[in-house]
This record gives sequence, structure tokens and C-alpha cells, in this order.
Amino acid sequence: MTKSVRIDHAKAAVAFLQKPDHVAFHDKRLWDLRSKRDVQVHGIPEWETLRELASGIKEHTLSNLAEYIAQFTDRADKKGVVVYFVANAEEHNELVYKLISERGMTSLVKSKSMLSDECYMRDYLDPRGITVMETDLGERIQQLDLQDPSHMVVPAVHKLRVYVAELFGKTIGTDPKNSDIHYLAESQRMNTRPYFVHEKTAGMTGCNFAVAETDTVVVCTNEGNADLSANVPPLHIASIGIEKIIPTIADLGVFVRMLSRSALGLPITQYTSHFRTPPRLGTEMHYILVDNGRSECLAMNDFWFSLKCIRCGACMNTCPVYRRSGDLSYGGTYSGPIGAITNPTYDLKHYSALPFASTMNGSCTNVCPVKVNIREQIYKWCAVIAEKHEVPFVKQEVLKMAGWLLASPTLYRGTVASLGDALKRLPN
Ligand code: SF4
Repeated sequence: MTKSVRIDHAKAAVAFLQKPDHVAFHDKRLWDLRSKRDVQVHGIPEWETLRELASGIKEHTLSNLAEYIAQFTDRADKKGVVVYFVANAEEHNELVYKLISERGMTSLVKSKSMLSDECYMRDYLDPRGITVMETDLGERIQQLDLQDPSHMVVPAVHKLRVYVAELFGKTIGTDPKNSDIHYLAESQRMNTRPYFVHEKTAGMTGCNFAVAETDTVVVCTNEGNADLSANVPPLHIASIGIEKIIPTIADLGVFVRMLSRSALGLPITQYTSHFRTPPRLGTEMHYILVDNGRSECLAMNDFWFSLKCIRCGACMNTCPVYRRSGDLSYGGTYSGPIGAITNPTYDLKHYSALPFASTMNGSCTNVCPVKVNIREQIYKWCAVIAEKHEVPFVKQEVLKMAGWLLASPTLYRGTVASLGDALKRLPN
């Protein structure tokens, strides 16, 4: 989906920064996740070996993707799973709509799937009479607040619970003054659960890993909502980005050891669910393998490494810019450092500000469990954007001045000294 207007990350971040309690909470919450991740990682002496292994598995698979996709789909097909391959978001959404509407269904219970967000699936289905019910707590909060998810692992991370209590009070009729987390989570479950058992409801899951050797779709969650979405309705649709394929079940062990530790600082997610066949007689299972720009990205010499990403969010949690500007200021499905390198592959002009939203401190690269070379790619995207004259005028001038300053030691020392004097005189 090509967009024409360039997003202004800095300007969009201003709205977030105007709520100081949210900013402080966001920064602290994400840094807590980063700190917990460090504790877990330091408890595993072979962590760096695992990173090497995970990176190697991903690079090998992406270099032989057609072969592994064929293995995965052939096996699934033989077991009665219907497999489709779609080129883009439009084809994905049309197919989901067709599958649901042809069966006379009117709603879809959905566990977390960034791919469906990337395809803007809800926007497509809602006006066509299909109610999409987000069943992940964070996603549901964002849906009720008419906002996109704000973090790939913790979608409502920026929201204070008192705010959620008010929101639930207004939208699902709970006590707006009760911000107890258990009460809020229970209320959300009570609100969504009736949809699972409704006869006209289909179910959708995303996919963390698609194992070619066993044609298994593996979904990692902490709420069990993926299991309900896959097993209760008579139709289970799994939307799978083609980069999610891994070769063997042994490879899965490497990623499962790293995913939750990197994401939340927890050894493992509460549920690591494996889906292979329709759950019972008379039910259906459909896999939709989605390209949506991935093949093009794979052909980009410097940038295909971003396809190794396992969506753990560790690079976001550690990024000082992301922690202080919030997800929604990135204007795309993917934000933070991984968004800065992924989004421009979809639409260079629209996302041209994102690679500049970086301090280049390299912390993102250091924490990435699959060794995506994020900092290097950010630098290269900045060069590409400058070559294509997509840098906004003001930024161009600032960068020119910075270039002059850094090229002259005398000018640099003089400026630093006068800035020091100025800072002493400025109000705190
Ligand atoms: S780029 Fe690496 S650290 Fe960032 S979300 Fe992806 S896997 Fe996690």
C-alpha cells in the first residue's frame, strides 16, 4: 500500500511528549524489560553461540526460501490443510474476506498478528460486515481506543492502568474507577469470550515460526488466546509471512530459547502452541503465506538481513529514541529500530524520516537475538535517502552545518566551549 506524504517523526512525537506521565512510564517500563532481558541473557553462558546459530539458521533459510516453502506447503497439503500464496496485502484481505463470507460467518476472533496489521486487514473487513475482535489484552485495549498497536510485544505499553480503566468503563461498561490489573484483564476476557463460541465466528492466528520439516505453525503467547482462536471456531486461518519459515523442529528450540528472554526477560512464553491439522472432524484449517514486499526486500543487497527479525522487540526496548517518542510517532506497523529499517523497504518517501530517528549508539544491534545489523542498515538507509534527495530541507541544512563543524577541530572546540557557557546561563 503506497502512501505519498512523508511522515514527520519528530512532529508526531510531540503529541506523545505532551503527556509527561506517559513518557516517564513508557521509558521506565521499556527499560525494565531491557534490564530483565539482561538478567536472563547473563544466566545463559552460551547466549552468544545461540545468537550465531539463530542468525545462521535464518540466513540459510532465507537463502533457500523457495525450497523450504515448498517443503512446508507440500506436507501441509497432504494433511488436509489448504495452503495459499498471496503477493500483497490486498490479496490477503480479499482472501480472508472470501473464506469468512462464503461460510456465512460474520466475525473473526483474532490473536495477535502483526502481519494482519501490516495488511490493514481490520480496515478492509469492518466495512464489509465482518467484526474483527482482538483477543490479546493489549491489542484489545488499542482497538477499543481506536489506535494501532504501540509495541510489537506489548501493544498498549504506553497506557497507564487508570487510563485503561476509564477506557473500559466507556467502551465495555466496567467500573471506570477500578484499575486493578486482574479486574481489567478478567473484564476484557469476559467481553471477548462469547465471540469464540458464536457459530458464525472464524478464528485467526499469526505465526511466530513455520517449521518446514513438520509443517507446523508455532505461535507463542502469554494469554492462551491463540489456542482458543485456532481450536474453538470451525475455521482457523493462519496468516504467515514467508520469512517465518525455519527448516527443522530442532531449529525451533534455538529460537524459543531466545524469543521470550529477548522480548520480556522471561525464560519462555506461557504458551508455545503447535498447530498442524484442523482441530477436529468437520473443521477447517487454512494457511495464507504472504509476500507483501518480502521478495523485493530479499533481493536488496544491503537490506535483506532485516527479514531475519523474529519480532522480539528488544531493539525497541533499548532504543533511547523509541523510549522517548513512542511507537505511534513512527507512523507504520513496525517501529523503533526495526521499523526504521523495515518500513523504508515498503515506501521510501513516506518513511524517509525514520532512519534519522536514531542516536546510532548501536545498542539495538547488540541486543538483537538474530544479529540483524540494525545500526549498519540505518546508516545505509540514511545514505540512500540522501542520494534520492528525500531528506527534508531543514534536516539537510542541519546536517550540512554538522558536517562543517565536525570537519574542523578548531570550530568544533570553539562551539563546544560556547555551548557550555550558554547552557550554564539557560534556565533548567
Ligand atoms: S530486529 Fe532483532 S531485536 Fe529487533 S525486533 Fe527483530 S529480532 Fe528483535
